[in-house]
Amino acid sequence: MVTAAEIQYLKEKLLEMRQALVGQMEKLKTYSQDMREDDIRDSGDVASHSYSKEVTLGLGENERNKLRLIEEALRKIEEGSYGKCEECEEEIPFKRLELLPFARYCVSCQSEFEKQGSAF
Ligand SMILES: [Zn+2]
Repeated sequence: MVTAAEIQYLKEKLLEMRQALVGQMEKLKTYSQDMREDDIRDSGDVASHSYSKEVTLGLGENERNKLRLIEEALRKIEEGSYGKCEECEEEIPFKRLELLPFARYCVSCQSEFEKQGSAF
């Protein structure tokens, strides 16, 4: 059973993670804007430019995904349904939540999904 104090601790952790991610995404946005300007200024070396663009966009995608999971975890804390596996409704142990505060599944369901290649 995850206690109220532990949930409070995890909530603060989630809020910190969200803050860090939002900051990171702001930076990424600025970075890709800079690259667009570079493209206009310098039309050579197109291949390497579009490659770094892909990397930037890919990163942004991951960050957005994570942000979504964090938002969801925070919503569940408000609802009081936080800390339960979405698949089998077993409680997720605090140790796991401490490492992964936005975990949606318990370890055994998660590893099932990973075996099937459909995690998250
Ligand atoms: Zn489960």
